[in-house]
Amino acid sequence: MVPAQFAVAERRQETSDTWTLQLRCAGEGLAFAPGQFTMLSAFGAGEVPISISGDPAAGGPLVHTVRAVGLATTAICKAEPGAVLGVRGPFGRPWPVEELEGRDVLVVAGGIGLAPLRPAILALLARRERYGRLSLLYGGRSPEQLLYTEELERWTARGLEVSLTVDGAGPEWIGHVGVVGRLVQRARFQADTASALLCGPEVMMRFTALALQRAGLDGDRVYASMERNMQCGIGHCGHCQLGPTLICRDGPVYRWSELERWLAIREL
Ligand SMILES: Cc1cc2nc3c(=O)[nH]c(=O)nc-3n(C[C@H](O)[C@H](O)[C@H](O)COP(=O)(O)OP(=O)(O)OC[C@H]3O[C@@H](n4cnc5c(N)ncnc54)[C@H](O)[C@@H]3O)c2cc1C
Repeated sequence: MVPAQFAVAERRQETSDTWTLQLRCAGEGLAFAPGQFTMLSAFGAGEVPISISGDPAAGGPLVHTVRAVGLATTAICKAEPGAVLGVRGPFGRPWPVEELEGRDVLVVAGGIGLAPLRPAILALLARRERYGRLSLLYGGRSPEQLLYTEELERWTARGLEVSLTVDGAGPEWIGHVGVVGRLVQRARFQADTASALLCGPEVMMRFTALALQRAGLDGDRVYASMERNMQCGIGHCGHCQLGPTLICRDGPVYRWSELERWLAIREL
């Protein structure tokens, strides 16, 4: 429960409300699996769960991409190089990247949801030859709200088929307009064996999972990362309960076939 002290080494603004922080500690770096999160704290402001968005194979600094939505996340985003933040973790069940070998993989992200998926994308691309067709379907509110836009080009060059969509844009936008779930119809994948990784607002994941199921992808092969208010991060406090599970301990990554029955219950 005691946070380790990490100093902000670098801070980069991604969008109007989102920053990527590189954090370093005095000892060894933090080994993690794609999809895991830390409990990140700005002293005096609060502690919140934030997914690790760095490269799992790179070692080096701990990377987090944070959207300023409230007290704690705003204080974290404002932390200048040299400032000290608290880190507990890594926690949680990761994306099953190795289980997906040999298959087509669709990565579907909405908004800040690309941050928890970035380590999975980097892990897939690091062993590109072990997978079938790799696609990223990514949606944001506007072109300015899309994350990692320079990197998207590098990922394309490494064999990821990237499709972008936004809710609204000016005439200069040449990508799609509309919800990300609609891109499923256009994506190319072997439906009877492909898998999908989803992260974004819950409503986006529901519609995308539905679209994937209609396209023939079984809910057992669709994985989603869930968010709920979380406090301890280690399965003690019960704040993040979802059905019979605790998201911090049993998630945040679940099979859609597990989630479906709980999400059908209003306000669970
Ligand atoms: C496993 C996990 C991974 C996450 N990864 C990231 C990440 O990589 N980057 C990132 O920016 N955010 C991430 N979040 C969301 C982040 O934890 C919340 O935005 C944060 O807790 C808000 O705290 P606050 O004190 O800044 O805002 P608060 O003042 O607590 O809340 C501000 C607003 O955000 C809503 N909110 C608060 N907590 C959550 C939550 N957990 N889920 C959804 N809405 C919430 C509140 O209802 C309120 O409307 C993740 C959450 C979880 C559970």
